[in-house]
Amino acid sequence: MKPNILVIAGHDPSGGAGIHADIEAIHDLGGLASTLITALTVQNSQHVRGFQLTDIDLLERQADALLADYDFQAVKIGMTGSLATVRFIARLLARLPGVPVILDPVLAAESGGSLTRESLGDAMIGELAPLCELLTPNLPEARLLAGDGGTPGATSTQSVADCGQRLCQRGARAVLITGTHDDTDQVSNHLFRGTGETQSWHWQRLPHVYHGSGCTLASSIACLRGQGMPLEQAVAEGQARVDHYLRAAWRPGQGQHVPDRR
Ligand code: PLP
Repeated sequence: MKPNILVIAGHDPSGGAGIHADIEAIHDLGGLASTLITALTVQNSQHVRGFQLTDIDLLERQADALLADYDFQAVKIGMTGSLATVRFIARLLARLPGVPVILDPVLAAESGGSLTRESLGDAMIGELAPLCELLTPNLPEARLLAGDGGTPGATSTQSVADCGQRLCQRGARAVLITGTHDDTDQVSNHLFRGTGETQSWHWQRLPHVYHGSGCTLASSIACLRGQGMPLEQAVAEGQARVDHYLRAAWRPGQGQHVPDRR
């Protein structure tokens, strides 16, 4: 089956992250990515220099056109950028009952540049997370969403397990916290579920810094869910695909490596 995946995310003109990553990952799995582009960012493989948000009225009209035509088998959400966009997405998800939604709560780029106009942690967890099947934050994002305050990258002592449990208590149904930002030899990713179950995966830490690995993971999981794969299996398979793409990554410029998503 060729699933139709609705992707709501930002555009990265350097081709490593955002919508490019989503389309490539979904295409590699044989799906079709329909895209609502929340923002155009100004960045290269080294730095984010800014972004411009898409007008909500335009997003509403694009969504109406798509929903009048397509059925969607899954939704992937990446960069939202503003409270107004988070609220637009919540309204849109209410029109897609029963469709699995994967939320990558993007707050900053790997290089550290902010990708939000205002503080979005509370709105993401309070208004979007209950409508999503899975959240895929990295540990700094998870700490922020768990209510530890501060800004992405700020020092925090909250453990992975505390964050996972707290996010489930705050309304998330399942959370995959990725360990890409740790300085250990392995990347450990932990799945926490509202039912109290947990599961962990450990991957060899590869030598470079990668642009778009989080987008690629969330889109791969969304597409696998859209094909009907059970969540836990899709989470495992999505990670294996990212590991494969990162092993073939290359450095197109002066900054981060870009995954080869095929
Ligand atoms: N979405 C957009 C538009 C971005 O520009 C970025 C990073 O630059 C991200 C998402 C997050 O990328 P990553 O998958 O590296 O966390």
